[in-house]
Amino acid sequence: MYRVALASRPTGAPEAANFSYENAPIPTPGDGEVLVRVHYMSLDPYMRGRMDDAKSYAAPVPIGGTMEAGGVGEVLASNSPHFAPGDFAFGMFGWTTHGVQPANMLRKIDPTQMPITTALGVLGMPGFTGWYGLTELGRPKAGETLVVAAATGPVGSMVGQVARLAGLRTVGIAGGADKCRLATETFGFDACLDHRAYPDAKSLRADLREACPDGVDIYFENVGGKVLEAVMPVMNPHGRIPICGMISWYNAGGLGAGARDAGLTAPGLWRNILVNFLSVNGFIISNHFDRYPAFLTEVAPKVASGELRYIEDIAEGLENAPTAFMSMLGGGNMGKQIVKVI
Ligand code: NDP
Repeated sequence: MYRVALASRPTGAPEAANFSYENAPIPTPGDGEVLVRVHYMSLDPYMRGRMDDAKSYAAPVPIGGTMEAGGVGEVLASNSPHFAPGDFAFGMFGWTTHGVQPANMLRKIDPTQMPITTALGVLGMPGFTGWYGLTELGRPKAGETLVVAAATGPVGSMVGQVARLAGLRTVGIAGGADKCRLATETFGFDACLDHRAYPDAKSLRADLREACPDGVDIYFENVGGKVLEAVMPVMNPHGRIPICGMISWYNAGGLGAGARDAGLTAPGLWRNILVNFLSVNGFIISNHFDRYPAFLTEVAPKVASGELRYIEDIAEGLENAPTAFMSMLGGGNMGKQIVKVI
């Protein structure tokens, strides 16, 4: 087997030198454990955080440790009555060709129901994140307006589609004309703005006001940065902001030069929350997996019927995982970023 390890911690954007490739013997499962051959592995923005040695909601990957990831694959050997060779399972195996996990940390996947890759995206952690954040914290109501950035990714596309089905006007923000076309044509957003086409938050805000003539009731926060600066002054009273992620700042950075003029200093932001009675809720989806069965019950049939759409971007080969990961952080992915391990 081989695995991709963290060779060094990045300063700013990760580089190829931050990763190393290690050969290792295939691990043997202990009592109650299961050995899985990973077929597909997920690449997610949170992995950037695990590369830093900073205090966070999860421990960092140690230097020399296997990069963290969820994956789906076939059971090769099992010391648990709950899994047999030939079964398919999802687990946190890491950036590796083979992984051993306790059976109670695995979720059985039925490959005859849906493609197994969906367990990493639309029906996995990211899709669940979009559904949970929107329905529980966004509290959508028909006739309202929702804005979400990274609109064609697995979180944003779920948010937009669930909101549309609930009767909201949905405005996506995405990087580039192709992604904006995908947002409106495939994911049914009423409008999409290409954040790369705007030099600053002010110009983005002007078009956002046009795209949201009744203001913004839910800003599902995926990115921070220029998009946050543009949206904040357009929020309606009693608006909701589920804070899901802030990818524009994962490699460091802060509010742009125009933020002060727009009143987006810390006092300005707090005042905006106060006078508009905004509900701002951060959440980490791993704390809410008790709701995962409800998500699957509601969403899986809609994915199976095509009512809810999804797009996957599959890189070939574990050796290409670092390149695909670095590209995804900068918006190079078209849909859920996955790596085909075999
Ligand atoms: P995506 O597959 O959408 O990939 C990330 C996307 O972020 C890129 O494709 C790019 O899209 C966008 N992006 C990158 N840099 C910028 C920037 N400077 N400004 C605006 N957009 C940028 O990711 P996911 O759907 O997996 O995740 C979306 C967000 O949700 C992330 O912030 C992630 O960390 C967060 N998340 C949070 C969870 C939680 O528990 N709170 C769980 C899962 C995800 P584009 O080219 O369209 O700009």
